[in-house]
Amino acid sequence: SMATAQPAQEERLVVAVRVRPSLEATERCIEVISGGSLLYDDGGKSRPRQYSYDHVFRENDTQEQVYKTTTAPLVRDVLNGLNAAVFAYGATGSGKTHTMLGPVPRKKPQTADRAPPTATCDSTDVSSQDIGLMVRAIEDIFSHIESADVDSCRVSISYLEIYNELIRDLLNPGGPLELREDHGGQRITVAGLSEITTSSRKEVVGLLLKGNKARTMEPTAANQTSSRSHALLSITVQTRTPLGTKQGRLFLTDLAGSERAKKTKNRGKRLQEGAHINRSLLALGNCINALSGGARYVNYRDSKLTRLLKEALSGRCKTVMIAHVAPESKHRDETKNTLVYADRAN
Ligand code: ADP
Ligand code: MG
Repeated sequence: SMATAQPAQEERLVVAVRVRPSLEATERCIEVISGGSLLYDDGGKSRPRQYSYDHVFRENDTQEQVYKTTTAPLVRDVLNGLNAAVFAYGATGSGKTHTMLGPVPRKKPQTADRAPPTATCDSTDVSSQDIGLMVRAIEDIFSHIESADVDSCRVSISYLEIYNELIRDLLNPGGPLELREDHGGQRITVAGLSEITTSSRKEVVGLLLKGNKARTMEPTAANQTSSRSHALLSITVQTRTPLGTKQGRLFLTDLAGSERAKKTKNRGKRLQEGAHINRSLLALGNCINALSGGARYVNYRDSKLTRLLKEALSGRCKTVMIAHVAPESKHRDETKNTLVYADRAN
């Protein structure tokens, strides 16, 4: 009957590519040709190659468009008690943090005579059009809850980084925290991680910006400040209804820069970081690849990242991968690597 008609089978894995605006007037290696495909130019060695994904966001697509297409459908699932995950993948400088958080206020100049406040958009401005997916998701959850008929509801967040396979609390920075397995490895928790209950957008924006500042940044040859850590925001929604309690969790991850160690001329400590980062990005790629291929057995144990995200990468959960690329020709190699990583997940 009409009443029991099922919606069309929805995809469990969605792969999107977002091209950030060019930061300088220069030759380009990317041309977006539709909402689902782009052309990549390797500099004339061969003919431009076409890549297709579930979505391709072009340079002037807004944060709202990206949110509505990728994350809004997952928020509805989370309110219904499911888990879901969104990943921002890409090299340093490709726009991951912009997508997840929005424009981050610049560091104050080191010199005594301070520059006047810049006119750049500030994420703490509540009306900001540029606010990222993390805050949009929480806002969306608040507004669904207000309009829904629920007895009581609790929204809480935790925010952590994984750096060199060590977990740190970004809401209350301190020493490394341990992963704990309960119920025979079915449930993974982080011992001692702060979980903050909130109902205010302003509070959330403040917490996230402060947390982002606490992330481990290291200068590399590829970029002044490259994020060598994965930042993972988890939003837990607990709803009490006359029939019982349900809990859903949304994981939003700003992954570490995917650039290769050789390009950043890393030595010693940083080379090791690169090895860890590549290990967890590889482990994530393998999990996602297995999911997209419908594999029965998926190995989550290869990295802390995939162990932590197991509950969002299995069962009926949906995953969105937003791969970020820079359009300038000088970033051609990293752009290609990212397109291939995303193509493999697709
Ligand atoms: P990542 O986190 O991948 O290292 P960022 O998010 O810091 O990269 O982006 C690098 C620079 O490009 C920043 O100055 C950022 O503000 C800018 N940028 C990235 N994506 C966009 C976008 N979609 N619109 C406007 N500016 C962007
Ligand atoms: Mg970043």
